[in-house]
This record gives sequence, C-alpha cells and structure tokens, in this order.
Amino acid sequence: MSEILAIGSYTETDMEGLREMGARVVESLDAMRGLPEAERAEVRAVAYKGHHDFGADEMALLPGLGVIANYGVGYDAIRIDAADAAGVRVTNTPDVLNDDVADLAVAMLLMQQRRMLAGDAHVRSGAWAGGESFPLNRKVSGRRAGIMGLGRIGRDIADRLAAFKMEMHYHARSEKETPGWTYHADPVSLAREVDYLVVALVGGPETENYVSKEVIEALGPEGVLINISRGSTVDEAALLDALEAGRLGGAGLDVFRDEPRVDPRFHALERVVLQPHQGSGTHETRAAMGRLQRDNISAFLDGRDLLTPVN
Ligand code: NAP
Repeated sequence: MSEILAIGSYTETDMEGLREMGARVVESLDAMRGLPEAERAEVRAVAYKGHHDFGADEMALLPGLGVIANYGVGYDAIRIDAADAAGVRVTNTPDVLNDDVADLAVAMLLMQQRRMLAGDAHVRSGAWAGGESFPLNRKVSGRRAGIMGLGRIGRDIADRLAAFKMEMHYHARSEKETPGWTYHADPVSLAREVDYLVVALVGGPETENYVSKEVIEALGPEGVLINISRGSTVDEAALLDALEAGRLGGAGLDVFRDEPRVDPRFHALERVVLQPHQGSGTHETRAAMGRLQRDNISAFLDGRDLLTPVN
C-alpha cells in the first residue's frame, strides 16, 4: 500500500528515487486499472510517464487523488478539464529539457542539409576509398529560419539558429520582445518567408494539424520542416504527399502521429531524418526531469506550493 503510485517505465535512477519515497510502481495505466480497489483508494499522488490518455475515467479509479505529476513538459495526454473537475492538480517538468530538445532540433537540421547519414554510409561502404566523390550540399549558416511556437524550447532553438547567422522569423499566439526578429501572425506567411521551419508548439487538440497542407506547400520544394513538438501538430498525410512529390525539400522528425509506429512511407524517403522521440533523451536531463517530478509530489504531500503547476 502506498499513497504514491508511479505509472510508466522508469530508469533505474528514477526507480531508486521513487522507492526512497515509498512509491508503488506499475508499468502502465492498464496495470493501474488492475490494482485492487483498496490499493487504488490509498493513492493521493500519481507520478505519470506515458502518452496514453489519463482522463476522467482513470481519475475516477483513484478517488483520493490530489496530484498528477507528469514526467515531461508536454502534458497533452492528461485531460486538464477532467483534472479541474475532479479537483486534481497537475504538474509538468518544464525548462530542464530545453537544451537537449533544442540541440536535437539543430542536429536534425544539420544532418538533413549536409546529408550526414548518406555521408556516413559513403565512408563505411568504401565508396569514398574507392574514389567516388560525395555530392555537394546546401549551406546552412546564414539562411532564413522560422520557429513555429516561440516558447521555452522554441526560444532556445531560435537562439542557437541565430548564432548560425540566420535571419530569424517566428509565429506564436503573441508577439515577443525579439529585436531584429520578424513576427508573423499567420503560419502560412511564416512558412513562405523561410528556408527552415522548426515546430516547437504545444501538442493537444488546439494545435492539431497546425502545420497544415498550406503551410507545407508555402515552405516549398527547397524548404525543410523540423518537428520536435508532437506528431499531432503536423498534417502527416500532407507532409508525406509533399515529400514524395518533391513539393517539400526535406524533413527532420523526432515525433510522429502513431509513434512508436512510423508510417512506412517515411522509410523510403532519402531527404528525411527520423529520430525515435529522443529530444530529452540524455542521462542528465532525464534525471533532472525525474527529480522535478518527485519534488512536485513531495511539495504536494507536504502541503507546500507546487514547483511547476499546470492548473
Ligand atoms: P511552451 O513554453 O508552452 O511553448 C509552446 C509554444 O506553443 C508557445 O510559443 C505558444 O504560444 C505556442 N502555442 C500554444 N498554444 C497554441 C495555440 N493554440 N496556437 C498557436 N500556438 C500555440 O512549451 P515548451 O516548454 O517550449 O514545450 C513545447 C512542446 O515541446 C511541449 O509541449 C512538448 O509537446 C514538446 N516537447 C518535445 C520533446 C521531445 O522529446 N521531442 C521534449 C520536450 C517537449 P505563445 O508563446 O503565444 O504562448
């Protein structure tokens, strides 16, 4: 019996931290549903790590629940309206992962434009040693970059790309204090003005297909789309159609609609870099995310202010 229930697949470091707090750990929401009623009734705090919907039905199974501490900054799997209705607080893990996600966005852009996967294969296959030359690519520094969603992560990506001497453009719901950068109220206008479009929006129903067919077409045959946000923010069918037809130059994707299942049409596309949703996937950052998740739970149980509340 424990008042803390951790749901998800945690690293050994996180498991240690959770065990020290006396948490009970289960692998999945299904495993939570299978717990005896008396054990579910004990739970006051959930440490959640997962992308499956945590909604009103799941909350109803935990009648003593007071807080859901999400592992990750994106909490689109947790129904905030249901949490509000049930009087459940929700926390997330912002900021500690900005550097890693921004690094990955820039890395995917460089890999895509400099065709680094093909370059690696060119060396390993012996083609280079055999005298075959590697084709020239496009210069990255000094091009025009657009950031879709200039929040915590988007800002860190923008700062990195500005250091590559790029002309900076962005779209968000509101204009920011960004001297020398151009704000676009309209996402299509942003895409039309840039060579690279990096998506750092929140996920969830409000931004579903925000990167629409029109945005993709406006980016054009030389343009590159980088997405580190959520698969849901991009119209994936339109993206695939545009890539296959050459109406979009390329893409770097860390997130997908139906991940971890990736549409096999992507596999055949040479101008696309694919990553397994590993934006925050370093030892340092994952440990910091776990710590912040547990600190939020401790704050709640001790009656202190939550560190990073969402609602
Ligand atoms: P954030 O600070 O909240 O920034 C989100 C941005 O999205 C803001 O610029 C915001 O506009 C914009 N936005 C929100 N709702 C919108 C709407 N309805 N229409 C248009 N724009 C909207 O979030 P963050 O900390 O940067 O994180 C961004 C996302 O990255 C997370 O939600 C998560 O999904 C994703 N992420 C991915 C990974 C990975 O491993 N690939 C890791 C961490 C996070 P305003 O600035 O005008 O408010």
